[in-house]
Amino acid sequence: MNNQPGSGMHWGIDIGGTTTILGYLKPDGFTAAASLKTDPAAGPDSLLRKISRMINEADDAPCSAGVGIAGLVDRYEGVLVSSPNLPGWKDYPIRRNLSTMLNCPVAIDNDCNAFAMQAIESSSIPDSGLWLMITLGTGIGGTIVQDGTILYGTGYAGEFGHMTVEASGRECLCGSTGCWERYAASEALSDYYREYSGEMIYTSPKEIAHQASMKQYSALRAFEEFGTWLGVGLVNLYHCFSPEGIYLAGGLMGASEFFLKHAESEFGRRCRYAWNVNVLPSSSDAGAEGAAIIGRNRAV
Ligand SMILES: [Zn+2]
Repeated sequence: MNNQPGSGMHWGIDIGGTTTILGYLKPDGFTAAASLKTDPAAGPDSLLRKISRMINEADDAPCSAGVGIAGLVDRYEGVLVSSPNLPGWKDYPIRRNLSTMLNCPVAIDNDCNAFAMQAIESSSIPDSGLWLMITLGTGIGGTIVQDGTILYGTGYAGEFGHMTVEASGRECLCGSTGCWERYAASEALSDYYREYSGEMIYTSPKEIAHQASMKQYSALRAFEEFGTWLGVGLVNLYHCFSPEGIYLAGGLMGASEFFLKHAESEFGRRCRYAWNVNVLPSSSDAGAEGAAIIGRNRAV
């Protein structure tokens, strides 16, 4: 990274279960600066030290930093409450610790909200009307956007992945049972594939998509079941919010051709709303850019 003292940069950090991406926002746009391994087992202190060292080397007076992170985030207190992707990171005061290391204001938010913020800023999500954004990956993230503003309720709005779709269903890490993300996120897809194929070993979503592209029966059936459960949740969200439409994003959307049609037909079977579900283009830097925007907006 180049040394740019006093540059007025707003830093954005996207902490995922395997990779952390950081970059900076200036008036002329966002630049991705680095990506590093997250290494959840080493703990949050270790990661924050690495991040702050990289930022301090590049910028001796950061204006702000924003952190997007998968999991339950107390954005008002700046604390990561818990994260399914980062086992053992509980009630960790990210804002307090990182703002001490960087000597600048720090804001933290859920990673889906950070991703949505970038989509709002780049006009990928319209700035009028009510829209929902949903990320499909290891879990299901959600964001409610009204007239270009993210709605938080008392702080945690948009946790659609933990909406109950099967009262006595599969156990979830959140402590409940039958959560939507236990039926329409990556582990569920692998489970369906295992059930249909009879294979006992784990198969990744990418491999299942490859098999589906070869018209392999078990893979196509796994995606059909996945899409059906996706449709079930989308119907519930339409009933609750009556949105203009929904944007889908996340790691599983590369395989949307195999499951979106099943979601749409389940949706049509269960409700009379017009299906307006769109796929946002994938971008590995969007979460970090959105986090930088959130940090900048809360610092002013
Ligand atoms: Zn849950």
